[in-house]
Amino acid sequence: MNKIVIYPGSFDPVTRGHVEIIKRAAKMFDHVIVAVLVNSAKKPCFSTDERLDMLRLALGNIHNVEIASFEGLLANYCKERKADAVIRGLRAVTDFEYEFQMALTNKKLNPNLETIFLTADSDSMYLSSSMVREVASMGGDISNFVPACVCEKIAEHFGHND
Ligand code: ADP
Repeated sequence: MNKIVIYPGSFDPVTRGHVEIIKRAAKMFDHVIVAVLVNSAKKPCFSTDERLDMLRLALGNIHNVEIASFEGLLANYCKERKADAVIRGLRAVTDFEYEFQMALTNKKLNPNLETIFLTADSDSMYLSSSMVREVASMGGDISNFVPACVCEKIAEHFGHND
């Protein structure tokens, strides 16, 4: 059976932690949809197109990974895409409460939908997009935090491309 999983997130921007989760998900499922949430109520740092481009650059070579974007409820998008499950990454106890609440809410909205948590890799469990944005905005070196191919795009965005 063709098992489809959706990995939703802001990916503002994609980090090495996200890529690590996606690679592991791609080994477990037939098809992984990395879905960038477009939320008109939130103002992301990077536009939807920039976030999609960086994900494509970072993941271009994985044959069963699709990069997409969605608006509205995740539970509805999962129905639309006939997804069997949602993947989320868990870094530390701080992620747990929010993730648990979201998983249970999605289950109520779409009872067929499972949420699967993958524990963050010990090398990237400290990483967050917000930390990358903060370091990059001040011209710091982000090469340990994001895939090499997106470093330049992020530096350019903040005007530190020399
Ligand atoms: P959101 O705004 O939905 O939290 P993010 O783009 O920040 O979106 O994260 C998407 C998912 O990836 C979440 O499940 C988050 O916990 C997970 N994640 C974020 N950073 C890491 C990391 N360094 N290692 C593993 N998982 C991560």
